Amino acid sequence: DGVTEVRVAMMADKPAAPTIIAVGSGKGGVGKSTLTANLAVALKRMGKKVGVVDADVYGPSQPTIFDNKGAKPEARDEKLVPVPSRHGISVLSMGHLVEPGQALAWRGPMAGNAMAQLVDAHWGDVELLLIDLPPGTGDVQLTMLSKFKPAGAVIVSTPQDLALIDAQRAANLFDSGKVPIIGLVENMSGYACPSCGEVSNPFGTGGVEAASDATDIPFLGRIPLAIDIRTSSDAGEPLAGSDSPDAEAFHAIAGKLAA
Ligand code: ADP
Repeated sequence: DGVTEVRVAMMADKPAAPTIIAVGSGKGGVGKSTLTANLAVALKRMGKKVGVVDADVYGPSQPTIFDNKGAKPEARDEKLVPVPSRHGISVLSMGHLVEPGQALAWRGPMAGNAMAQLVDAHWGDVELLLIDLPPGTGDVQLTMLSKFKPAGAVIVSTPQDLALIDAQRAANLFDSGKVPIIGLVENMSGYACPSCGEVSNPFGTGGVEAASDATDIPFLGRIPLAIDIRTSSDAGEPLAGSDSPDAEAFHAIAGKLAA
């Protein structure tokens, strides 16, 4: 009958919920947001429809990296509408909801609820939703695990032991929530001096790969410490949108995620 036909048509119009990939780290400042943004841009270049949720209460940086700072997302039918960026990637960030610094004072459940609103938004035809989690293993992570079922998690760490111990803790949390860990990424690995070309390792090197060997969690790749990775993020132009050699690692890791 007609009613059933309308219902079937409405169901067909309703986009499938995006596949969620969480990006986590044990500590702040190891490059989780940088990795999330660059993977999103690299996946977009591969033809995927990508969205980014920035759930990092302590330092929402995606509005800067995607150059849509100050944008205020609209709400439709009590759900947020993601903010477009000129990179063809829609973004919803804690930074779009509150003034910089304000979210820091939020208690855990508030931050968890805010994250849930960012994820449960009008993502339209987005296939892959990357979530930039706050560092550590707090309420936002627990809400993520209980309310949404990420298809997998990527954990980023710098190579030194202390960062790795915390990264292991983050990995354990996903593991206990039965979220498969897609793999570990080593960031800030190896610095090539721009004037003489000599490679040094300010944070050591190889530590994350060794941890991956010891835990049987796949190793996804190593991202160099490179000035253009930082300057491009600050300028609202994630480096993975370019053919810079320093962006190759992002493209390689995105290829593994897309597979
Ligand atoms: P997190 O999200 O883990 O707190 P960010 O992604 O914000 O870390 O990175 C912290 C700072 O380090 C930022 O200024 C960022 O641009 C810079 N950064 C991150 N990864 C690299 C890298 N591979 N090379 C150079 N700078 C980097």
